[in-house]
Amino acid sequence: SKLRVGLLFGGRSGEHEVSISSARAIALALSSEENANKYEILPFYIQKDGRWLAGDVPQQVLTSGVALTTLAAISKLWQFPAQTQEVDVWFPILHGPNGEDGTIQGLLSLMQVPFVGSGVLGSAMGMDKIAMKMAFAQAGLAQVKYLTLTRAQIWSNPCVFPKLCDQIEATLGYPCFVKPANLGSSVGIAKVRSSSELEAALDNAASYDRRIIVETGVVAREVECAVFGNDQPQASVVGEITFESDFYDYETKYTQGQADLLIPAQLPDSVMRQIQDMALQAFAAVDAAGLARVDFFYVEATGEILINEINTFPGFTATSMYPQLWAKSGIPFTELVDRLIQLALERTQKSE
Ligand code: ATP
Ligand code: MG
Ligand code: MG
Ligand code: MG
Repeated sequence: SKLRVGLLFGGRSGEHEVSISSARAIALALSSEENANKYEILPFYIQKDGRWLAGDVPQQVLTSGVALTTLAAISKLWQFPAQTQEVDVWFPILHGPNGEDGTIQGLLSLMQVPFVGSGVLGSAMGMDKIAMKMAFAQAGLAQVKYLTLTRAQIWSNPCVFPKLCDQIEATLGYPCFVKPANLGSSVGIAKVRSSSELEAALDNAASYDRRIIVETGVVAREVECAVFGNDQPQASVVGEITFESDFYDYETKYTQGQADLLIPAQLPDSVMRQIQDMALQAFAAVDAAGLARVDFFYVEATGEILINEINTFPGFTATSMYPQLWAKSGIPFTELVDRLIQLALERTQKSE
């Protein structure tokens, strides 16, 4: 009989809409000729308020690609639909907080049902840019200079605040990048060019997260590498992103035609190999599993390769970097989705 795949998408995250797009592409791949005889899809839509829906509504959201604006009134957050009991393997297609960060992974672990992707630790480490950078530093991976702050420091300490700004300026200089530690799709990120812009950027980032990171801005090419596997992960060819805008912000990421993906990136073989090696080290450093996309800055002038971040559930539409990198490395989209489910099943067998 067919394996019942629970597609979890939407979510209480700034990347709710991106999740719907990824889920549509994955649902399509699971209903392809190669996969349809193996898998049955059970869609679950997590509303923006965190409540779960099964049945017709998730199917409608998948078909239309549009998020629900009028939320279904389910009384309790923890009233999960009865259909959750029928799932053989979960595919958490969630980006950002409350989905890519270990919270859902904890719930699925407690259910004792296998799921695609990283577990609790890998997801949490990969989501929090501060924890992630600590793990990368420990692994000896080169990265930009940074400082960390808390919301409390930014919001409730008027005398300390100017000193913090001075410290950021003296240590990191301009431009610098202010980021909420736990987010994605560039939500809440600002490029700051002068002290007059710093306060607003910190205030805005603090509205998204309790933990904030500020980094020195680098002038570099942006390259990404996809990782696939569990204990013996493989790295894909490296891809490059090019765009006209000031940085790779939300609009550039999701407006058709604003960014180009070049796969493989035009890089010396040695640089390509070094990036692949660093991607695998990063994957291991945060204890990722199944899949991850690792983002880098390549400073061409000096030959420096700086790791920027890891994403344990990267964008997964047909045109997203992660599946495209694998398509160019010999694993087509439909096969990739199938193999990710197989990796999920393999992982539970090993740990038990
Ligand atoms: P993703 O959608 O990949 O999860 P994210 O929200 O986690 O993104 P980052 O990848 O950290 O955010 O940063 C988003 C973009 O901001 C980068 O792709 C790059 O264009 C720019 N950027 C971030 N940090 C720096 C930096 N230190 N120097 C230069 N550019 C940067
Ligand atoms: Mg990210
Ligand atoms: Mg991300
Ligand atoms: Mg990124």
